[in-house]
Amino acid sequence: MVRLGQEQHPSTHFGRILIRGAYHEGTNTDILIEGNRISRIAPRIELEDEPAEVIEAQGMAVIPGLINTHTHAAMTLHRGYGDDLPLMTWLEDYIWPVEAKMTELDVYVGARLACLEMIKSGTTCFLDMYMHPKQTARAAEEMGLRAMISYTLFDQGNAERAALDRQRSAEYLEYFSTLSDRISFNLGPHAIYTVSGEQLQFCHEFAQKHGVKIHLHLSETQGEVEECLRLHGTTPVRYLERLGILGPNLILAHVVWVDDEEMDLLAKYDVAVVHNPASNMKLASGYAFKYEEMKQRGIRLGLGTDGCSSSNNLDMFHAMRLASLLGKVWRFDSTAVSAADIFASSTSIGADILSIEAGRIAEGALADLCLIDLNRPEMTPLTNLTSNLVYSASGSCVDTTIVDGRILMRGGHVPGEEEILAQAREVARRIIPQE
Ligand SMILES: [Zn+2]
Repeated sequence: MVRLGQEQHPSTHFGRILIRGAYHEGTNTDILIEGNRISRIAPRIELEDEPAEVIEAQGMAVIPGLINTHTHAAMTLHRGYGDDLPLMTWLEDYIWPVEAKMTELDVYVGARLACLEMIKSGTTCFLDMYMHPKQTARAAEEMGLRAMISYTLFDQGNAERAALDRQRSAEYLEYFSTLSDRISFNLGPHAIYTVSGEQLQFCHEFAQKHGVKIHLHLSETQGEVEECLRLHGTTPVRYLERLGILGPNLILAHVVWVDDEEMDLLAKYDVAVVHNPASNMKLASGYAFKYEEMKQRGIRLGLGTDGCSSSNNLDMFHAMRLASLLGKVWRFDSTAVSAADIFASSTSIGADILSIEAGRIAEGALADLCLIDLNRPEMTPLTNLTSNLVYSASGSCVDTTIVDGRILMRGGHVPGEEEILAQAREVARRIIPQE
């Protein structure tokens, strides 16, 4: 039996943290964090009274914490199970039977493993969609991460389930309002092939009324577009426009299969789009994600890993590298999807999509940031930091992770990580059939 909730995550809120001599924009600088914000950035900060914590950051670069705008945290437990299979075999014969066995506590254990992996690889905020969202929220709350958590609506044409989903949306909204400011709530209608048009319109009205976002998988595969044409006589983005639900609070994951006019619509309504290169490649959903075409239209483009059964890790450094390389090769254009663009997708643009004041090293911004160890082969020489981060680094280059002014990791070690791994192994032994 897994013992849960007996230890709170032992990270500490220092109130005032001084980062000394970190590499930032080509020079070494001091950064003062007061409460949960960056309060000062200057070459040298002298304080009359010493802060509670001083981090000597010479030999480290400070970067904004990375923002994973599409994942399913607890699917870390499915890592390495059902690889290299056709999409529907993978889902129907592998993932869904395992999910049917998962308890609420299993989701908590899986989400804790995800939070640990994210903290260790420099992700400070994530947008999640999975069952038992309270458990993912609890894991993020305890581990100290910032998270926007979607309630997954998934009715598959069943009117009873649809009604239950509507009722639960309101209950969860209420519940999430009792959590810390780091944890926010939104609606996650799973996809247009599992949620009715009427229910999508409910989501839109609910989101408008309560000022929350909508998180939806869209145009992930060619098959999805064909089915949409068959059922609704039009393509997915046009279908959403017809339903009247396109708008700036809509966040679409994947969007691999769209035409020019659909991208014009996404731009017109200021819809955000999240690219998930690892998942799209591993599931062979498609490779021609139109990053440049969407960027030119002014569409806000975020970056995600998707869940660990199709990714198979939550390392945003891997995701950045894949997105950039993939975006170049399919269009035979080495200037496409630059390191600077994809780094912005993973930081400032991701923050904008989630409406949080993070993703930047700036006075007044939320203190969500990482220190990168520069004394590593893959970070040497430091000719171009962004290039090294996108094309060379991995999450293991992260030394320190700070979220909301709390230090969650120092020296590459998260307090309590051994216990989190042990619990995840124990749950996986029970729910994953041994081959
Ligand atoms: Zn997904």
